[in-house]
Amino acid sequence: MADTLLAVSNLGSINIDHVYRVPHLVRPGETLSSTSYQQVLGGKGANQSLALARAGGVVSHWGRLNRTDDWAREMLQHSGVRTDDVVHADEPSGHALIQVDDQGENAIILFPGANHGFKSADIDQLIAAMPSPGWLLLQNECNALDYTMRRAYEHGLFTAFNPAPMTEAVKTLPLETCSLLFVNRGEAVGLTGVNDDAPLDELLDALVHRLPDSEIVLTLGADGVCYRSPSTCLTLPAHQVTPVDTTAAGDTFIGYFMASRQVNQPIDVCLQRASTASALCVQRTGAAPSIPEMSDVDQAFS
Ligand code: ADP
Repeated sequence: MADTLLAVSNLGSINIDHVYRVPHLVRPGETLSSTSYQQVLGGKGANQSLALARAGGVVSHWGRLNRTDDWAREMLQHSGVRTDDVVHADEPSGHALIQVDDQGENAIILFPGANHGFKSADIDQLIAAMPSPGWLLLQNECNALDYTMRRAYEHGLFTAFNPAPMTEAVKTLPLETCSLLFVNRGEAVGLTGVNDDAPLDELLDALVHRLPDSEIVLTLGADGVCYRSPSTCLTLPAHQVTPVDTTAAGDTFIGYFMASRQVNQPIDVCLQRASTASALCVQRTGAAPSIPEMSDVDQAFS
């Protein structure tokens, strides 16, 4: 293991996605037959751990799921994610009921289940066992984020936070304890309160004003990514590709960025690897299956 390798733990959601193909999204009062059904691993937390591992990173996933869904933990483990701290919960696993219609439109019911069962004592134990300095990655699909951010800060960890899916509650979190923030445009607008159609400079200024001491990674879909820190300001255009499905683009970006960051790669290299990986992701369908392997990223666009 390289001297420079910092531990990365990801306290993140593990969801079971139930995907139903339907002729149209179900209407109030209607009973509709689905033409196909698939059960797949999902959740932003699991996707980001998977991306980190596929990028060659070393990541320990902290998660909770019902013991009847242990296949999801095994899938993470087989992809190289450390799963010693994925615990079996009594409550149902987090899951999503996803309808996809013939036009590709979707409607989703998300049940947080076990992802919302973290207790302060579990978090204390997990954080106390982490080497410091190290990185703690968080998204907005698990509970106790306020407590976790504060404890991680006290323990000397660097917290990387992706406030997805964006909710009002994110605004009240102690974001100043986070070293690194990953946001897409919608999340940045939600967090700062600027207008939806505000120019990019205004949005970036508002983010920097909100978090002057943090690193900020603002992803902009086909328009690429902006990076701001107190000392560095970078912009990288996206690769010119024809997207077929942008699911998990952000998760792929974050996983690849963190894997490069874990071995102290310069920021421009972190951004380039993440951008290449996510450009591959958008050319494939699905969530977890669309997250590329490191070998694909090494070969792409070379
Ligand atoms: P999220 O999935 O969180 O909404 P974005 O849509 O901003 O995140 O995408 C994350 C990254 O994925 C972008 O910064 C870019 O590098 C890449 N990406 C997304 N959409 C495209 C696209 N259409 N073409 C090329 N790259 C893309």
